Amino acid sequence: MSIKLKPIIVKKIPEPYVEPDALIVNRRKFIKNKLLNLMPGFEELANDIEKNIYESVKLMADKYLIHVDDNNDNFINLYVEKAKSIVLNLDPTSYVNNTYLLPMVLQGNITPETLVSLKPVDMFPERWQSHTDKLNKEAKLGSTHYSAGQGTSDLFFCGKCKNRKTTYYQLQTRSADEPLTSFISCSVCGNHWKE
Ligand SMILES: [Zn+2]
Repeated sequence: MSIKLKPIIVKKIPEPYVEPDALIVNRRKFIKNKLLNLMPGFEELANDIEKNIYESVKLMADKYLIHVDDNNDNFINLYVEKAKSIVLNLDPTSYVNNTYLLPMVLQGNITPETLVSLKPVDMFPERWQSHTDKLNKEAKLGSTHYSAGQGTSDLFFCGKCKNRKTTYYQLQTRSADEPLTSFISCSVCGNHWKE
């Protein structure tokens, strides 16, 4: 007598499909950590800055006709370049030597939204002073690309120490529809702002 064994059918359970991380994910983690190291205890702010960098790069990519795709090298490079310039300016010990920006961001004087929209000259007015001086000279020599001015003035009021002793410089590009921007520095308390 033989027993007929029923063949055992092993039902293969399909493994759940896990979407691999997009290439940009590690870059974003790296930048988040860099930011967090610069501002220990300000995790939310660091995350917020990183998120704003990423969102601003999406808009930038659209402008440069770069395909917004977390796996696209060109898009990732754009993100890395933007993030690098912000991290270097926030880090007071980096070669950029910007000791002004991080305190402004930590004190909430510059929001993450504003931070990511700043041009280099706005991120670090002092560092660009010589550049501005050069533009001034060019302007005087008849080049009309920029108009810039600077001086000491009581036109501006320091909201921090309530004095009117300030130095400032102003910059305007001819092409842009941007208004004249004044970079003001308080001679009494060292407060910096922009109007
Ligand atoms: Zn002041």
